[in-house]
Amino acid sequence: MTRVNDSYQHLKAGYLFPEIGRRVRAFSEQHPAATVIRLGIGDVTEPLAPAIVAAMRAAVDELGQRETFRGYGPEQGYDFLLDAIREHDYAARGVTLGRDEIFVSDGGKCDGGNLQELFAPDAKIAVTDPVYPVYVDSNVMAGRGGPVGPDGRHPGLLYLPATAENRFVPAPPTEHADVVYLCSPNNPTGAVATHAQLAAWVAWARANDALLVFDAAYEAYLTDPSLPRSIYEIPGATECAVELRSFSKRAGFTGVRCAFLVVPRGLVGRTSLGQQVSLNAMWARRHTTKFNGASYVVQRGAAAVYTPEGKAETRAQIDFYMENARLLREGLAASGLAVFGGEHAPYLWIATPGGAPSWDFFDRLLAEAHLVGTPGAGFGPSGEGYFRLSAFNSRANVEEAVRRLARMFAAR
Ligand SMILES: *Cc1c(COP(=O)(O)O)cnc(C)c1O
Repeated sequence: MTRVNDSYQHLKAGYLFPEIGRRVRAFSEQHPAATVIRLGIGDVTEPLAPAIVAAMRAAVDELGQRETFRGYGPEQGYDFLLDAIREHDYAARGVTLGRDEIFVSDGGKCDGGNLQELFAPDAKIAVTDPVYPVYVDSNVMAGRGGPVGPDGRHPGLLYLPATAENRFVPAPPTEHADVVYLCSPNNPTGAVATHAQLAAWVAWARANDALLVFDAAYEAYLTDPSLPRSIYEIPGATECAVELRSFSKRAGFTGVRCAFLVVPRGLVGRTSLGQQVSLNAMWARRHTTKFNGASYVVQRGAAAVYTPEGKAETRAQIDFYMENARLLREGLAASGLAVFGGEHAPYLWIATPGGAPSWDFFDRLLAEAHLVGTPGAGFGPSGEGYFRLSAFNSRANVEEAVRRLARMFAAR
């Protein structure tokens, strides 16, 4: 038997989505006539936009012709996509980035999980709580978490509670941290950070030699143009932040797979001997050593997101999901529930009635309204007492869910 990485024993059992599946199956077996509506998933439901499909078809045809066939591409991504990102995502917001500061990949989950390879084994990692589980688990795998304590926390990590009191946007800590993961608009809470809140984080990171990992996977869902879409809209952020973006939620690429990580040239880290090193050079070394580039066909599809047709079509999809979010938000509020999020993100974060444990509310919602959501406790200890509903669904299902909620809460 080979010797293994002990840190994997420190992971909490990946029980959230399997446990939801188990409870829904058990319910459906007992109530075969009930139509269960699933509002638990964080996956898109609309098909790919026509401009993206056309671009990918044309790219496949190119690969099928000797004259236009391509093999391995540049590991960091093709210039046509890097330049589209630079122009439309950044220059348009007053941010100048070089091609060599953008790294195209096959997913934000991989980027978010792989990034921690650059940090010292004993680096202090801070996460907002509740949180996208990848950030916790990838650091636990690397030995920075330790076994979960009775409070549901890995003792090696610093948890920054996101609560109703701070409107789910934690302020910088007083303790030291080497790396902080931030996500805005947020999964799971739907909260969004203002310019002033991000400026406080950038000032803190620069004063504390810390790195911010800014996850902007939901940036396209921001409906208020005055809110920051990129951490680099904050002066000084290129010296203390990397930014993660993905085409998954923005253009329906959850199955196609394309994302990118921005690692500015101005980011420096420190070795244990005190030498300064470039994080951009380190990430370039990692990326080109362990990754051979996202597929040409997929990058052509991603570039089509930035064409006039692609912009209009993906905008219409996001507007559709955000109208779902509005209907859910208003329906929940009319049913007397305290609801957060859903204005700049496809997620609604609900305080469970009477502060009920989130799994109890899950069971009640399933039994009384045949609706499935995600218990907040699955995203971290501070998610207890909350519940996430997703706006990724058909309009008919959303309208039916709102009717069922109204009936369920009118009944008492
Ligand atoms: C969906 C999501 C991502 C992106 O995931 P992909 O691997 O690109 O599909 C990143 N961060 C958060 C918080 C997400 O919800």
